[in-house]
Amino acid sequence: MIEPRDFIRAQVVEDLNSGKHKKAITRFPPEPNGYLHIGHAKSICLNFGIAVEAEGECNLRFDDTNPEKESQEYIDAIKQDVEWLGFHWAGAVRYASDYFDVLHDYAVELIKRGKAYVDSQSADEMRANRGTLSEPGKNSPFRERSIEENLDLFARMRAGEFDEGACILRAKIDMSSGNINLRDPAIYRIRKIAHHQTGDKWCIYPMYDYTHPISDALEFITHSLCTLEFEAHRPFYDWLLDALADVLPQPGSVVDVWKRAGAAAGVDDVLPHPQQIEFSRLNVNYTVTSKRKLKQLVDEQLVHGWDDPRMPTISGMRRRGYTPEALRDFCSRVGITKSDGVVDVGMLEFCVREHLENSAPRAMAVLRPLKVVLTNYPEGQVEEISASRHPNLPEMGDRKIPFTREFFIDRADFEEVPPKGYKRLIPGGEVRLRNAYIIKCDEVIKNAAGEITELRCSCDLATLGKNPEDRKVKGVIHWVSAEKGIPAEVRLYDRLFTDAAPDRGDVDFKTFINPQALEVVQAVLEPSLASAQAGERFQFEREGYFAVDSDSQPGKPVFNRTVGLRDSWKPGA
Ligand code: ATP
Ligand code: MG
Repeated sequence: MIEPRDFIRAQVVEDLNSGKHKKAITRFPPEPNGYLHIGHAKSICLNFGIAVEAEGECNLRFDDTNPEKESQEYIDAIKQDVEWLGFHWAGAVRYASDYFDVLHDYAVELIKRGKAYVDSQSADEMRANRGTLSEPGKNSPFRERSIEENLDLFARMRAGEFDEGACILRAKIDMSSGNINLRDPAIYRIRKIAHHQTGDKWCIYPMYDYTHPISDALEFITHSLCTLEFEAHRPFYDWLLDALADVLPQPGSVVDVWKRAGAAAGVDDVLPHPQQIEFSRLNVNYTVTSKRKLKQLVDEQLVHGWDDPRMPTISGMRRRGYTPEALRDFCSRVGITKSDGVVDVGMLEFCVREHLENSAPRAMAVLRPLKVVLTNYPEGQVEEISASRHPNLPEMGDRKIPFTREFFIDRADFEEVPPKGYKRLIPGGEVRLRNAYIIKCDEVIKNAAGEITELRCSCDLATLGKNPEDRKVKGVIHWVSAEKGIPAEVRLYDRLFTDAAPDRGDVDFKTFINPQALEVVQAVLEPSLASAQAGERFQFEREGYFAVDSDSQPGKPVFNRTVGLRDSWKPGA
């Protein structure tokens, strides 16, 4: 059941209850000119979420009208991201380019109706005559061309007779409209470039604003959901569908184009006029959500590709270890409104941490190893200690952790001159090794440079799994056997930008790139992690959540830090 928990869902509920629509049909319409980012996740969760909740359908439609910026690589990545988020599109993947023939025929129809003309002004003239927000535009001297002349010129545009920019096809609406989008918007332009789907078939391509409403109508979309910047485009969206209302395919009429669009079952039997509804974009602090800017980071090699775990792309977040559940939870907490705002990235991290807390098995890993030798523990002895994989999920079972005379602890867990309140290991002090014994530091070994290279400790052999009766030992630290542990590269990620609003515009966003966003350490892992597969996620006790990276090789694991353990954001904060 779909609940009216935001104004868009409320509209969908109303339209289903009133009988306006039999079924809600939405679409997610990415342009394949980059990888999807966290902002797209919001749109995906909204469009596909409504289809799931209302038992409707959601199409995946590539909005591919701009061939020079688009590619198959992006198409494949986008499909993978939508599926990974847990959604299924209705029927085949659709492409606006599937409709190029029909879009062309509708343009011819508009010309025949006196609603479109070929303009031969130069780009500069067109710009000058467009007017401004406060001044009306001026009619093109070519605006009153006859229908015959327009049909002829458009046919010759299509045949490749003119150079790029020599002329365009424009809708004939109103050059004095207060809405600049209604001042005879361009609907077709000449681009002599091959298209990733249609090859060399076309040298004219339809504009986005022209393509989108017709594609929606062809697919019988009921609610066309988009971000607020399209609000001012809605009058043209409606103008165009009204101008073509009687020739758009009718439900029930098995016309060729309808078959091509792949009509959804159970659609309405009234004239299709999808309703465009706008909602606010997702903005996240410390983050850039613009494909163009993310592409710059990739092209200028400031990150290692679109799926670099520092990137706010869906593929980057996946590689970093974020879960689809966490992203869906985040989008649901953000909600759908009409007011622009900035969401705290801490909320996203909170959602990731919360999902992993309840799903990721525990393990021990020492990120910055410091060697410890237990002087009173027999050489060569190996004790297999059993520990649960998850404290609250006994069904995950146990793992075996080998305990040996030599092991590593984290450098941060020992201080010669401890700060006040320090509860970990200090010279002469005691600490509990997690899942194992209490140890005491007897001697600190240093090299010639004065750096600590090793600790000599003794262990209280009566403290495995129980506390001593005569004293309280407060601190607990983690460890990994030096003999049995496995070396691994661990990539520690931090936020990609140092400024909360890197994208604010007055300064180049790249000046705010955080040089510390990636730190690589050589860590040692407990041996149970040897068989972990790319994509698997763990909580490294006392450190945070980590995921196996796709760069891992057999015997050479690479882990990414997904998120640390500490909360910086709490619900309601
Ligand atoms: P960008 O501005 O990053 O280039 P875009 O809007 O050009 O993004 P599209 O591929 O056209 O990218 O977007 C597909 C859909 O995702 C559109 O319906 C768009 O409105 C929506 N979308 C894009 N960015 C956001 C965002 N930050 N928040 C919510 N929805 C978004
Ligand atoms: Mg766009």
